[in-house]
Amino acid sequence: MSMGKVILVGAGPGDLGLMTVRGLEVLRAADVVVYDRLANPALLGEVRKDARLIYAGKGPGGMKQAQINAALVEQAQAGHVVCRLKGGDPFLFGRGGEEASYLVAHGVPFEVVPGITSAIAVPAYAGIPVTDRRLASTVAMASGHPAEDGDGSTPRWRELNGADTLVVLMGIGALPEVTGELLAAGRDPEQPAAVIERGTTPRQRIIVGKLRTIAGDAEAAGVRPPAILVVGRVVGLRETLSWVERKPLWGLRVLVTRPAEQARPLSAALRDAGAEAIEFPCIETRPLPPDARAPTALQRAYEWMLFVSANGADAAAAALRAAGRDSRAFPAGRIGAVGAATAAAVEAVGLRVDFTPSRYTVAALAAELPGELAGKAVLLPGRAEVNPRLRDGLTGRGAEIVMWPVYETVIPRPTVPLADVVGCGVDVVTLTSPSAAGGFVELGGKEAAPDAVVACIGPPTAEAARQAGLEVAVVAEEHTADGLVAAMIKHAKGKKP
Ligand code: SAH
Repeated sequence: MSMGKVILVGAGPGDLGLMTVRGLEVLRAADVVVYDRLANPALLGEVRKDARLIYAGKGPGGMKQAQINAALVEQAQAGHVVCRLKGGDPFLFGRGGEEASYLVAHGVPFEVVPGITSAIAVPAYAGIPVTDRRLASTVAMASGHPAEDGDGSTPRWRELNGADTLVVLMGIGALPEVTGELLAAGRDPEQPAAVIERGTTPRQRIIVGKLRTIAGDAEAAGVRPPAILVVGRVVGLRETLSWVERKPLWGLRVLVTRPAEQARPLSAALRDAGAEAIEFPCIETRPLPPDARAPTALQRAYEWMLFVSANGADAAAAALRAAGRDSRAFPAGRIGAVGAATAAAVEAVGLRVDFTPSRYTVAALAAELPGELAGKAVLLPGRAEVNPRLRDGLTGRGAEIVMWPVYETVIPRPTVPLADVVGCGVDVVTLTSPSAAGGFVELGGKEAAPDAVVACIGPPTAEAARQAGLEVAVVAEEHTADGLVAAMIKHAKGKKP
């Protein structure tokens, strides 16, 4: 059997966006993923559907270092490409060096994908640059953890005091000892200090004090690992440089339930607003099998061809391609789209949209379609089931509806259960289609996110969500990804004192 390899990958400090491009590429392609207790469990949503997941964290259900080493060698020798995922950077207090040495000793090839380390990124998200020409030209990174398990030897605090900025990882359990050592070694007791808990994540907390007070301050605030200690004059810059906390949706973990291909614009808009976007597709679109897509419906002219989703436009174009045709086969007649996003998808397949309604709902589309509809044929490329509002609106005006089913929606089978991806909970669930509402509930959403606020892209989705037993708190006025985010910001502002 051919030999596999192990790739040590840094997962970053918590914020999903701080995983490197190469790291994500490796994670998505790996046969086997060996992971620790991750700052962000949502990363596991990225693994291949048939990948093997091995939990190697410390504590219950986890492994000792010797077992981890053995597992890595065993999996690689079985011919697998193994992604060894580690928090932050694998070579900074991450035992990456030890694991790599073990691999070399056993003839297993390995690679390293460095990660964004918490030692720099966590202060950065708190508005603290670890160096600054005006205040600090050297920085030291130390482990506050005793050396017994080989994470690094106990720091020589006296020498470390030579560094302008000091970043201490794994020191929260022993803060009084660590700060006591620094003071005993002669560091200025008045120097600003900060403890940052779960940095770069929506649960980030920052406690600021002085070297002589910070241990007590952190204890009073009930700080728990993971957290880091930063000591030095640069901590004072936070007053002017704090930035992430000013974003309107900062602190919120938001579930994106859209099909994977469409999730990206919504996730990007959420991240821009400061939220953490966790993608977990609760609905998937599938082109219908070729015989059902045969474009017999296209052999006549229509007054209108109406698209009510971007999927409809994409799937119609795909259906034509599958039948050996192209966009010349679309029937003569005018073209309508329910909204801007759908219109963009229609234009992307090479058709010009003649009409979009004033409000992006199917009811508005049917009601506002210009011209006489009585006795006229309207073609609906899309799902086999026509939206009842659209049907009633069109038949009410005397139109004849012709369906052209090109895709169906199904509930995907997740690799990792929703409850695991959600990890420490979500604050908001976004629903962008009636079928996503059903999929979310079907996939255990109510149990996995019992306290989450439900935000819907429009009235039909809200109605479906309520029918599925969810309480809807936010309905977007503009039925787009940006409109949904705007509605969430408005809702969040309303809640702030
Ligand atoms: N290799 C990792 C560090 C592993 S040691 C890296 O490069 O970041 C684990 C320690 O990292 C924790 O005890 C804590 O001190 C720090 N840490 C990791 N993620 C953190 C986070 N999101 N916020 C604060 N500290 C974090």
